[in-house]
Amino acid sequence: MEQTSIAAALETRYPSARLAEEFRQARTDGLLRFVSREPLHTQAVRAAWLVIAERVLGGERLPTPAPPDSLLADAAEAARVISRLRAVIRYAALREQAFPERLEARLCIDAIIADPWSTDELRRAAEHALADMETTGSRWLASLPAAAALSLRDNPVVLVMDGVSADLWLANAESLTRAAPGARWEWLRLDGNVATPDSLALQLGIEGDPLDVLAANGIPYVQLSGREENLAAALSGGLSAARSPGQAAVARIALVDRAAHRGELRLGAMAEALASLLEQRLAEVVSLCQSEGKPLVLTADHGLSLVGGRLTHGGGGVYERAICRITWRSARKQS
Ligand SMILES: [Zn+2]
Repeated sequence: MEQTSIAAALETRYPSARLAEEFRQARTDGLLRFVSREPLHTQAVRAAWLVIAERVLGGERLPTPAPPDSLLADAAEAARVISRLRAVIRYAALREQAFPERLEARLCIDAIIADPWSTDELRRAAEHALADMETTGSRWLASLPAAAALSLRDNPVVLVMDGVSADLWLANAESLTRAAPGARWEWLRLDGNVATPDSLALQLGIEGDPLDVLAANGIPYVQLSGREENLAAALSGGLSAARSPGQAAVARIALVDRAAHRGELRLGAMAEALASLLEQRLAEVVSLCQSEGKPLVLTADHGLSLVGGRLTHGGGGVYERAICRITWRSARKQS
């Protein structure tokens, strides 16, 4: 018999709805073992995962779990089960962290909301966990220094990633440090309107529409998609078009903002887009800036809230207002 027909036969003999009742009585460590080791009964694996996920979202701590695994015979299904286990295990671990690190748990919540295995009930539990995170996160947000204008005196290149929230920076912290070590991280609170022009004006210390004011002051402002084959070359080309040497420059990368505005983007896809941009392009950009003796500031204009499964901004909250500012000082100045 094929795996799928074995799974169907198992579902007939041992209906997962009946098993779910037993799973609700079972201990979580036993359920984790079952999900990791069951080779054939996919629907029972789903029922057990649903119970685990609901408990964890509801606040249960996990026993130090074994690395996520699945022995399902269907390799693609097994891979999906492993990533489902990873989402709940990672969520449980991140929830124990302090802020800002705890904010990364939203990626796990979003993965659970988007999962076709999730039920309406589980999605409600996920929304509830997210609301809790927003509430506790807002207390941390209130403790942050307000985002004041960054200094343009030592002529930095300011790279603004449009709409990149705290959780996405945190999820990429390790690969970012690997790609370009030596940066200083700061967390700041964006006050006022959560909108691109308002935030740029605030963070650059200017009044009025950044496009006009920067142009009037001869400060180059380029907009990129982040999908440029060679970002450093595109950046350098864009900046030299309006070059007068020895001054600040601003680039805005609309990596994912447009898709998010249309409500078409998942947080997970946004995380992947940012990760590949940072892994493949950041080192070149840092060395471009260092070769010109300029500091590089990598930041965002604002982040995005996840509301009803969609990414949006304007309403405020920790995921919109927590601004991450990452600075590489120029090599020349340091030496
Ligand atoms: Zn924006």
